[in-house]
Amino acid sequence: MILKIAGYFRIAKPIHQEDSCPSEPQQAAFLLLTSHLKRTSTSSIPTLNVSPRVKCQSSKDLLSLSDVSPKDKTWDKHRANADRVAGYYASAGENYFNRYAQRVSSCSEWLEFRLVPELSEGLLKLKLSDAQFCRVRHCPVCQWRRSLMWKAKAYKILPKVVADYPKYRWLFITLTVRNCKIEELRTTLDWLNKAFKRLTELKVWPAKGWVKSVEVTKGRDEISAHPHLHILAMVPPSYFSHGYLSQAKWVALWQQCLRSDYQPVTYIKAIAKHHDPKVLIPEILKYQVKEPDLIADREWLLELTRQVHNTRAVAIGGVLRRYMRELEEEHQDLIGNEQETDEIDEGSLSFRWRRKLKKYKIEE
Ligand SMILES: [Zn+2]
Repeated sequence: MILKIAGYFRIAKPIHQEDSCPSEPQQAAFLLLTSHLKRTSTSSIPTLNVSPRVKCQSSKDLLSLSDVSPKDKTWDKHRANADRVAGYYASAGENYFNRYAQRVSSCSEWLEFRLVPELSEGLLKLKLSDAQFCRVRHCPVCQWRRSLMWKAKAYKILPKVVADYPKYRWLFITLTVRNCKIEELRTTLDWLNKAFKRLTELKVWPAKGWVKSVEVTKGRDEISAHPHLHILAMVPPSYFSHGYLSQAKWVALWQQCLRSDYQPVTYIKAIAKHHDPKVLIPEILKYQVKEPDLIADREWLLELTRQVHNTRAVAIGGVLRRYMRELEEEHQDLIGNEQETDEIDEGSLSFRWRRKLKKYKIEE
């Protein structure tokens, strides 16, 4: 019997054979997929043969989430990195970090996906419907989900802003300071944010609305931190004829606001007229700390955690506040159920994190 899900592969599975011993959820999943088969075409799709006999031997041979839906392979990567982060916290030997270790360790251990028809292709796709997230700031899974949710919201909201301010233009601004010791990150971030506030209070500050995000990368020396700000700013069309700021002027203004004795590195890019500011959303609402930087070094992560505790990652200013205030909120929907109102539910599949295998496997 050939089954197909999400347009990625077919599973050959004799569900009636006596020697096959599928567990109930598996059987349910396959029956569900079988019923779907009637409505899908089977052309030009790679085939994956899953032997039911092997499947009953160990969890290693259970269906993986990444087999069922290759695009969800990324869950394995983030979840394996979460185990590393949990391990760093656990080995720190401090109560403060032990709590984080437990929370991150039990984050998203189990995922439930609804099977939703993909109307354009007549196929089923997996849509996350239930999971328990730890919400620890530097949990790789939660950081990824938070970034996805921010982006989804911004993609939804930005067209409304563009419709309300059709002639406005958009700038992408990066404001930096010199690297600091990781132990001085908190004071450096405070300094950066105060300087940015001063910048927005200057008469020459051209933006009517902005989204500001804080990013921290690891310095090239592998010890220091490089905190910087990414800003998506909305400027009136007159900015390019009156009050235009050259690159050199931006550097001078940022230096003035930082009150630094050096010229800080500053990048300004204007989005071409009529170009959609949405192209910059991934840049603005990416991770606060890159995942490779989170898992590279235990001491750096522990100090980072102490330093950025209770600091804000994203802030919205000016007229954009009334559109995007919710991006700043602490408690976000990390599952992403909001926009699904008219989707038909075709059943569900559950997967459990198998730590040793570093894979999500179908629930036995
Ligand atoms: Zn988490």
